[in-house]
Amino acid sequence: MAKRGNSIIKGIEINELISMLNRAYADEWLAYYQYFIEAKVVKGIMKDAVISELTLHAADELRHATLIADRIVQLGGIPLTHPKEWFNHTNCGYEEPKDFDVVAILNDSIKGEQCAISTYSKIVEITKDKDIITYNMVSTILADEVEHEEDLQALHDDIFDFISNLKKSMNI
Ligand code: FE
Ligand code: FE
Ligand code: MG
Repeated sequence: MAKRGNSIIKGIEINELISMLNRAYADEWLAYYQYFIEAKVVKGIMKDAVISELTLHAADELRHATLIADRIVQLGGIPLTHPKEWFNHTNCGYEEPKDFDVVAILNDSIKGEQCAISTYSKIVEITKDKDIITYNMVSTILADEVEHEEDLQALHDDIFDFISNLKKSMNI
């Protein structure tokens, strides 16, 4: 544990910070797996574009999990050591893909990103002026989650436009 490093944290319990980060850590692993499996099972129109985006997002979520785990260790904590704990700590849960159509998959993922954005905005608020290192880290992650939501929404809108143009051209 970084003794001098952690002495700069003011006005926030380190244990509280660690539990908050462990909840986000659980979210990131679940988000990683959700994207991973979605990319494997997704079906339908423009699916190649969707698969590339989901695969990139999976890599980002794994990178977020890595950043958070490293910060937890720096703070003297232990990142969750068993996957079953992910479900006891998660804020955003896990949307099991049941309908594999691109639109349903995108909707599930957009929901997840919106939850991640709310979660990280709270952590940003809580750590502001209290723990500059965690604050900077979660601000960067938050920016990624905003980008994720936008990417998925844009794909979702493109698919809708494509379908409605097709219907128009076929007069249906
Ligand atoms: Fe993430
Ligand atoms: Fe994300
Ligand atoms: Mg993206």
